[in-house]
Amino acid sequence: MEKNLMILPSKPWPPLFIPSHCSIQLEWHGSTRVLANSNSVSITQRSNPKLIDTQLNQLCANGPLSEAVAILDSLAQQGSKVRPITFMNLLQACIDKDCILVGRELHARIGLVGKVNPFVETKLVSMYAKCGHLDEAWKVFDEMRERNLFTWSAMIGACSRDLKWEEVVKLFYDMMQHGVLPDEFLLPKVLKACGKCRDIETGRLIHSVAIRGGMCSSLHVNNSILAVYAKCGEMSCAEKFFRRMDERNCISWNVIITGYCQRGEIEQAQKYFDAMREEGMKPGLVTWNILIASYSQLGHCDIAMDLIRKMESFGITPDVYTWTSMISGFSQKGRINEAFDLLRDMLIVGVEPNSITIASAASACASVKSLSMGSEIHSIAVKTSLVGDILIANSLIDMYAKGGNLEAAQSIFDVMLQRDVYSWNSIIGGYCQAGFCGKAHELFMKMQESDSPPNVVTWNVMITGFMQNGDEDEALNLFQRIENDGKIKPNVASWNSLISGFLQNRQKDKALQIFRRMQFSNMAPNLVTVLTILPACTNLVAAKKVKEIHCCAIRRNLVSELSVSNTFIDSYAKSGNIMYSRKVFDGLSPKDIISWNSLLSGYVLHGCSESALDLFDQMRKDGVHPNRVTLTSIISAYSHAGMVDEGKHAFSNISEEYQIRLDLEHYSAMVYLLGRSGKLAKALEFIQNMPVEPNSSVWAALMTACRIHKNFGMAIFAGERMHELDPENIITQHLLSQAYSVCGKSLEAPKMTKLEKEKFVNIPVGQSWIEMNNMVHTFVVGDDQSTPYLDKLHSWLKRVGANVKAHISDNGLCIEEEEKENISSVHSEKLAFAFGLIDSHHTPQILRIVKNLRMCRDCHDSAKYISLAYGCEIYLSDSNCLHHFKDGHCSCRDYW
Ligand SMILES: [Zn+2]
Ligand SMILES: [Zn+2]
Repeated sequence: MEKNLMILPSKPWPPLFIPSHCSIQLEWHGSTRVLANSNSVSITQRSNPKLIDTQLNQLCANGPLSEAVAILDSLAQQGSKVRPITFMNLLQACIDKDCILVGRELHARIGLVGKVNPFVETKLVSMYAKCGHLDEAWKVFDEMRERNLFTWSAMIGACSRDLKWEEVVKLFYDMMQHGVLPDEFLLPKVLKACGKCRDIETGRLIHSVAIRGGMCSSLHVNNSILAVYAKCGEMSCAEKFFRRMDERNCISWNVIITGYCQRGEIEQAQKYFDAMREEGMKPGLVTWNILIASYSQLGHCDIAMDLIRKMESFGITPDVYTWTSMISGFSQKGRINEAFDLLRDMLIVGVEPNSITIASAASACASVKSLSMGSEIHSIAVKTSLVGDILIANSLIDMYAKGGNLEAAQSIFDVMLQRDVYSWNSIIGGYCQAGFCGKAHELFMKMQESDSPPNVVTWNVMITGFMQNGDEDEALNLFQRIENDGKIKPNVASWNSLISGFLQNRQKDKALQIFRRMQFSNMAPNLVTVLTILPACTNLVAAKKVKEIHCCAIRRNLVSELSVSNTFIDSYAKSGNIMYSRKVFDGLSPKDIISWNSLLSGYVLHGCSESALDLFDQMRKDGVHPNRVTLTSIISAYSHAGMVDEGKHAFSNISEEYQIRLDLEHYSAMVYLLGRSGKLAKALEFIQNMPVEPNSSVWAALMTACRIHKNFGMAIFAGERMHELDPENIITQHLLSQAYSVCGKSLEAPKMTKLEKEKFVNIPVGQSWIEMNNMVHTFVVGDDQSTPYLDKLHSWLKRVGANVKAHISDNGLCIEEEEKENISSVHSEKLAFAFGLIDSHHTPQILRIVKNLRMCRDCHDSAKYISLAYGCEIYLSDSNCLHHFKDGHCSCRDYW
């Protein structure tokens, strides 16, 4: 649109001579009134023009209109003409009877009109537009040589009926350039379009046109100007204009109140609402509804309910819009039962629900997967005969599909006369979710042939569906197909469904590969991507990936979201970068309880008990109320620091001071605390006095204590309890059998079935992963294939091993998850140490290793020695904890 070239016609406002619509109408009605009683119309051979007119006008009133065409044809044979006004009456009749076919026939005979004037053609434009054929209206309009204000108004009206707001604005500029000036009836239409397409520039221009054209005395025009400012969010202009209005009606007040509501400034809206009443203007139903809907949408359902009561006390009865906005407000807030009660009340007082009422109630049921309430909604929809409405049918399909009743969803889908992409997506999504990917795919294929072909959401639903069913190849295949498809492009959600799919299927590496490909493809990751991919990197060998994702999140400005930053605090800690966790934490303002807890548990993980306790102090000084998770971390911190009494005190404070219900995590932290300090009998007594049934992690805490403090009898007791709670756990079985053999009991003694004994052989093989130069290398215990490189590692270990022996703290019996090492089977983490340090020219400062089983005491001692001898730090996370070896010590303080 070339707005800049726009020049306002500079000639003085022309006196507008308009043959008014009224005169045409009157004449038309006049003739029908005269002839209302005459019955049939016959075509006379040589009729006089007046009689023909009368006949045609009578057809306009009583039909059949098609006969008019025959009369016109006979006129053509006679070489006669028809009066323009009669022809226009015929066109108007086509509009009234929505008869496009006759309208087209009449158009074909326009040559019969005595003298075609712009009014006749304008009527043609209106006829096509009002019968719903905008393209033909445009054709007539474009071919017109002379267009007057009415022609432009008709075309603008046509576009605005078709919601083509931008076309309306464009037509307005065209009209002005053709030197035709708008009147006060046309301006509001154009202003409405400006509001709809948020075109404040044009709105301002029209405001000045209205001033120059002296149209600002029209309340209708003024309200429309006010509405443009309000809709475009220019509330200060709107307010100024509003104050200067000489006359205001209820609509003016509604416009300004709506403006504030749309911006979510409910207090301002309320102020105007009160001022309205003070000025003696009674708010009508519409005004009340605007305010009620706004409060309800903003989640203030209770204030909205109060307003309804007030409104009723003023004698105004809520209508379907009032009820619907309340029902959808409660639904969105998850207050489903209240939404339902309102729906029932609404029906009792006899207000018919509309499609939005039903659809919002149905989607509320979908969100809580309540099929019983959902089917009640369904029957209400049937009773009110709204069930054929596409919006309702879609929401019912969605409700049944999400609730898992696919049969009901399918039967609604089957009888729908018209389906849109939402109908298809809901049903396909339902089948995918229930695991029927084949059926979903069948529908997906059918959809491609239908009037509403799949959109990117459909593709994403299918990708997610295949992923959830473990069919990764098919999911990838679909993804490649949209990548290659010219029309639909994969969006960020498509990438996210691949990433989360791979993660759900425990394919971390593939998920990370997809993430990398996503970045290369110039698709910007969003919040969901970051929150999905990060947990895949919460291990020591992915430390660099966490940094990489952090950079990416900073670039995309995603870190301003607190949830993202909190996840980074956690991921940095778990990947061995507690300093970075602290940095992210310190940069946060404000912080929430999750931020505090994430750093706190990070410190505990790293064995930094002092930092954890300092942070807890700071937290209390800042007035942050600790929660369940905080206190678990705090007990663990006291336990690590050997502060048994403080730990006990914290434990007893949980329910007293902090009013938090004790749960199993607190209990197992306490067992850990007592066990660590060697108070094994106290720990057992504590367990036996617990008011809740201990779970396997409580027993595991005792088991660890027994292993470290070499109480094998109690280890058997704890192990047997663990075995009872989790008979499938092979590690438990393995530990238990070792404890039996240490105590001289036979393997036959325990309550172990034959099957379990068979399984017992399958202890997971010890594996370690180390990250070096951006590559993750895997080592397996007993990897004794003789390759030159492995031989080198073994001889390095032999050399180092001799020195380690001197440092070994304890050679006594112990029970371990892995078989003891021998010449041919060296534990995998040792191979990783050798691999990391063998290059004597370049000793890395930090080794980061992940191990699948708990480290044995030998390896732990070796790591301590190596950290001292080679001056490097080793981060190693095993199945129990994170060890940080430095200067010959480990952060776990030899308790893991
Ligand atoms: Zn070992
Ligand atoms: Zn350790």
